[in-house]
Amino acid sequence: MLIVNNFSTLACESRSAFNLILITMAKLYKNNKNFLIIEMTGAEASVLGFGIEITGCLNSIFCGGCNSQIEHKDIYYIAGINEVMCKDCADDYIKTMSHYTDNDSLRYEINHFNIIAQKLSMSEKAAFTTDNKIIIT
Ligand SMILES: [Zn+2]
Repeated sequence: MLIVNNFSTLACESRSAFNLILITMAKLYKNNKNFLIIEMTGAEASVLGFGIEITGCLNSIFCGGCNSQIEHKDIYYIAGINEVMCKDCADDYIKTMSHYTDNDSLRYEINHFNIIAQKLSMSEKAAFTTDNKIIIT
């Protein structure tokens, strides 16, 4: 087993050769509307399967908002729509979108957030409050 502190420095061809414990840089991207968004690197998004594998290194990842290539930038995972975006589009999403209020949509957002957060070894976990609001524990 290999513990990797900086995944991007690991040779691409080595990734599949080891049982990796990925120590991630991913973090919750806090925002005033309480959207569940995770900031991550291109390497982390590639490991999660976002984008299209081109060379076995970083996947080719496109922003779900502006369609620009973002694998070399900070990537923002928007759990409510299960999509990755660049910072500008994530900030636009926060600014312009309203949070769904129905139980199924919130459950979708919470479930996707928890799946991705767990895969990235993040300590945060999303849940419902009794009045149908999202909280991070
Ligand atoms: Zn964008």
